[in-house]
Amino acid sequence: MATFKDRIEGLKGEFETVADRVKDAKALEDLKNKYLGRKKGLVTGLFEELKSVPEAEKREDGRALNEFKQSVLMKVEAIGVRLGRPSPTDQISNHPDLTLPGRLRYVGAAHPLILFQEEIERIFLGMGYTIEEGPEIETDYYNFEALNFPPHHPARDSWDTLYITDDLLLRTHTSPVQIRVMEKKKPPILVINPGRVFRRETPDPTHLPMFLQVEGLVVDEGVTFAHLKGTLEYFIHALFGEKIKVRFRPSFFPFTEPSAEVDIECIVCEGQDKSCRVCGGTGWKEILGSGMVDPQVFKNVNIDPEKYSGWAFGLGIDRTAMLAIGIPEMRYFYENDLRFLRQFDLK
Ligand SMILES: [Zn+2]
Repeated sequence: MATFKDRIEGLKGEFETVADRVKDAKALEDLKNKYLGRKKGLVTGLFEELKSVPEAEKREDGRALNEFKQSVLMKVEAIGVRLGRPSPTDQISNHPDLTLPGRLRYVGAAHPLILFQEEIERIFLGMGYTIEEGPEIETDYYNFEALNFPPHHPARDSWDTLYITDDLLLRTHTSPVQIRVMEKKKPPILVINPGRVFRRETPDPTHLPMFLQVEGLVVDEGVTFAHLKGTLEYFIHALFGEKIKVRFRPSFFPFTEPSAEVDIECIVCEGQDKSCRVCGGTGWKEILGSGMVDPQVFKNVNIDPEKYSGWAFGLGIDRTAMLAIGIPEMRYFYENDLRFLRQFDLK
């Protein structure tokens, strides 16, 4: 009885003879079907039979059969070329498929914090505020003294920063811009001042040595705490949605009197997680400080505190963005991990 190998050899000889007689595309198609057809092809049939070849010969026979199959494929291809039919590879290179989607080149996008800052700016621009900016390197006068922090005042401790000289420092808040604006403009004043600020902080989930802040200032005749409260409530609801819970808490700032800190409910745990690292289990997170402008600050910029009153606020953009997005770490914003950053690329 003929061995499996003999059968391959026999089929090989027969194939060569038949293949040489192929004269047109139809015959080529028939040849292909006869040997490689999915169901009744002769080579295909041998692969079926290979399954019952004794284990000891299977390896050797399998290799011989694969070689034969390759030679059949190459011959069919060669006949196709001889008959003038372009090979599949030629078809692709000569006729690109114009219906394929193009390859987009990633050109980058605005950082999520900048997108968030713009969102805040839009809300205030809609209320008639204008945007003013100031220098990141400030003098002690603008950063502290004009804002009612005399030298050696204990409140300076919580605003500690990096000093360039005794008098020049990296600003600890955007509040110096308030002073600069009031020196230039006369009331009514309605501005917000976004920008980068610096503190001597050890980084943790909600503190960073460098972050973004936005400051707001309103000065006019007859401005009251009710304006402060109404505006900030409107702003927070515009930013976080109507349902967010807000609370005002008495606080102290040297440049406002009375002062209030504003908390929103913790979006990360919704007050349900006693071990939440964002709110410390309290269910609330402070997002901004605010208050009525201290009369002494008005005197420092020659605005009459008997005639005018005003209110101001300062909000940490990073921390607020963290809560708005619902992430537990402010540091994600600065790690430059594209997997994180690209989620906010809304182009
Ligand atoms: Zn929480």
